[in-house]
Amino acid sequence: MALIELELNDINDHVGDSMEFEVSGDVSDPQLPGIGQGVINPVTVKGVAINSGDGILVEATADAKVGLICSRCLEDFQTRLSVPISCEYRKGEAVEESRPEGGRELSWYQGDSIDLSGEVRDQLLLEVPMKPLCDEKCRGLCSQCGINLNHQGCECVFDDIDDRLAPLKTLLKEGEQEE
Ligand SMILES: [Zn+2]
Ligand SMILES: [Zn+2]
Repeated sequence: MALIELELNDINDHVGDSMEFEVSGDVSDPQLPGIGQGVINPVTVKGVAINSGDGILVEATADAKVGLICSRCLEDFQTRLSVPISCEYRKGEAVEESRPEGGRELSWYQGDSIDLSGEVRDQLLLEVPMKPLCDEKCRGLCSQCGINLNHQGCECVFDDIDDRLAPLKTLLKEGEQEE
């Protein structure tokens, strides 16, 4: 599996250098629990990397296709998510350190390349809707027969009588039977 690897080339050694990049690769563990297929690899990340002296600042956008389950009709569907990546990567082993300024995430790298896949996965997870909908107008399932109303109608009859009147309705029915 090819992770989302950003080769730093020259900018790794020169403070102030920057480069635009577009890389694609796979996020590991793309199966997001309980929401369908999860991230469908590969994912594309496009943006700019800057050597700030403290580390490499990555400002980018990750575009991914994700497979979700509609919360109304329970069918699988695919959609695209586009999430901002704003992360400062410092060289070396991961240590506890305060977050960098500007709302960026903090992460770590070694060598001459940065693996973006962890950060990309985290940001995609945040962007997945709590109640995914295959379509704003999804008609969902019939609460009586369970048919998917997007595909076909059903014959179910819904009484308008609300629960408070239910006892009366029962009486009426009994009356009918006695006749
Ligand atoms: Zn749906
Ligand atoms: Zn029905």
